Formats: sequence, C-alpha cells, structure tokens
Amino acid sequence: MNAPASLVYDRAGYCPICAAEVRFQARQAWFRDHLFCSGCGSIPRERGLALVLERRFPGWRGLAIHESSPADRGISAKLARGAPGYVASQFFPGEALGATVRGFRNENLERLSFPDAAFDLTVTLDVMEHVNQPDAVLREIRRTLRPGGAYLFTVPTYKGKVASERRAHYRDDGTIDHIAEPEYHGNPVSDAGSLVTFHYGYDFAELITAWSGLEVEVVRFHDHRHGVIGDFTEVYLATVPV
Ligand SMILES: [Zn+2]
Repeated sequence: MNAPASLVYDRAGYCPICAAEVRFQARQAWFRDHLFCSGCGSIPRERGLALVLERRFPGWRGLAIHESSPADRGISAKLARGAPGYVASQFFPGEALGATVRGFRNENLERLSFPDAAFDLTVTLDVMEHVNQPDAVLREIRRTLRPGGAYLFTVPTYKGKVASERRAHYRDDGTIDHIAEPEYHGNPVSDAGSLVTFHYGYDFAELITAWSGLEVEVVRFHDHRHGVIGDFTEVYLATVPV
C-alpha cells in the first residue's frame, strides 16, 4: 500500500474565498495546481482573483457579472452564490448560442449573444490561453461591458517570454493546425480537454490594449498569508475607459 505523499507546504493563512482562517497545504511542489485551501479546496489563482475582486470591487455582490467556463468550486462558486446578477456560460459547439445547455448559457466568446454594455464585470480563470482569436474575444468582452466595467481574469503568463506565441490554430473547417507540441488542460465540460492555443508573454497586456482599447493592469502575487505563491500568479484587470 502506498503511503499518502507527505506535505511539501503547510501553513496557516486567511482564504479570501472562505473569508476565514484556514491552512494552505500542498503535496506537490507545483503550487499553481496543488496548493489547496483546507476550507474550500481553492488553488492560488482563484485566491489571487478573489483578492483583486474584494479590493477593487467591494460591492461585487450588486454587479452584473458574466463568467465564462467557471469551475464548480472556489471563486466561481462564491460569485454564483453571492451575486444575483451572475451569469455563467460555457461553449457547447453545435448548440444554439444564448440557449441554456446543461445548466449554462451557451456562449462563444468570439461572438457573444449578449447586448452591448450588459455587464459590470466579466471573469475568466485560465480561459484566454485556449481561445482561437483572442483579439475577437477581447473586443466582444469590451462590447458587453459598461463604461468603467472590467474584465478580471487569470491566464498563464510565461516568465522571460517577451513575445506571445501561438501554439495552435483552428482552421475555418474546424481542423487544427498544430504550430507547436500540442498541450491540453482539463475541461469540466469536455473529456477531451482544452487545447492550448497561446503561450502569452509580457507583451500580452499591451496586445490587449491594442486589440480592444481596454486599459490593463497586471497584479502579480507572492503572498503566503493568502496562499498565492508559485508560478503564474498574474491577475489581469482590464478596464473599459469611462
Ligand atoms: Zn478557502
């Protein structure tokens, strides 16, 4: 019988999602996916986004919020519980856009069915590295946000990478042009996983502004108290100019 792996990290701290004193514990050194909150099971990027949300949008419970591709735990579950104006979408290709499918609104981020200025806040966690046309996605997100509204999101941003790199491209006929070794991440609504289309570099903030006109701030964490440490702790806050 294998003994459970021993803890490589175990500290007391405050979880901004639980809003409680908890322990942050990891059994693997890749904290990004393995440093769990003992209370809610969240991982660092969820807590980083929650910190920026609470600090910059303390009245978030009263906002109209669209989250694309939410997880069923952590900050997504808290937004769903806490904000009556929260809408969760997933993309089910082949189903009618705007329809409810498996409990989610069916939305393609490249051509959203929402009217202009429908939301105060759009949220995604690790979605932008899977989209085919990030420029179209950012323009659509901006279109559906009110002036002063914001797109709050996480995406892996590669240390030392000056220029963002496309890894794969979906052709118009749906086939895939693999430019680099295929990489897949887990997808809660597809057993096939999600193909990584981009490795973003430090130019991504400027690309967002060039594509969409959103004003971008990037917050990076190294915060033991809130359990936001390890690689890829960036949280992007992209605001519609007033
Ligand atoms: Zn927690």
